[in-house]
Amino acid sequence: MAGEPETETEYGAEFFRAWLTAAAVAVDREADRLTELDSAIGDADHGANLKRGFAAVGATLEKEPPATPGAVLATAGRQLISTVGGASGPLFGTLLRRTGKALGEAPAVSRTTLAEALTAGVAAVAQLGGAQVGDKTMLDALTPAAEALRTSFAAAREAAEASALSTVPLLARKGRASYLGERSRGHQDPGATSSALLIAALAEVAA
Ligand code: ADP
Ligand code: MG
Repeated sequence: MAGEPETETEYGAEFFRAWLTAAAVAVDREADRLTELDSAIGDADHGANLKRGFAAVGATLEKEPPATPGAVLATAGRQLISTVGGASGPLFGTLLRRTGKALGEAPAVSRTTLAEALTAGVAAVAQLGGAQVGDKTMLDALTPAAEALRTSFAAAREAAEASALSTVPLLARKGRASYLGERSRGHQDPGATSSALLIAALAEVAA
């Protein structure tokens, strides 16, 4: 097909702050549900962990708004690592830090660039936690979401939400839920569920 190549929309620091603010609102709203999921196959702290972490992220970004998308994500990631005690703090923190690092110092980035950076962030989570897709962790939602983000924000959201649901029958192979063995089947993974909230917040601010 002939014609001009389509110019991709670029998203600046403000968009990324709006994303994490929307994520903080969603985590706050869904905290009880996340904790309920974690009470079935973990230690019932996932909602509280993320609520504390994302509230701290929101406060930091408001106090000292970073100037670039990369800096927004790196700052948020550091904040999650330092405020969340559970496994999910370092994992989500690494996701955001590594994604931010991959974005470099660009003042604005396209969705395609973000998709590539997020893929690097997801790879860092896999390396840190040693989990693979299918192990019933946050990676089950994040991996297909990063892939689908190459298509659209809405596709990323759909992929994350569908994949979070698809963790229900899986056997947990990493994290606390793995201690339950076969009894971990039949429950939705809390971290895959909160990952879907994070991606849904991204699609929401992009819409
Ligand atoms: P903790 O398990 O320390 O109480 P949280 O309850 O906050 O931490 O988070 C639990 C979630 O973290 C799980 O539902 C899972 O998605 C994720 N998780 C745990 N271990 C790993 C791992 N090794 N790799 C990827 N994700 C993991
Ligand atoms: Mg827990």
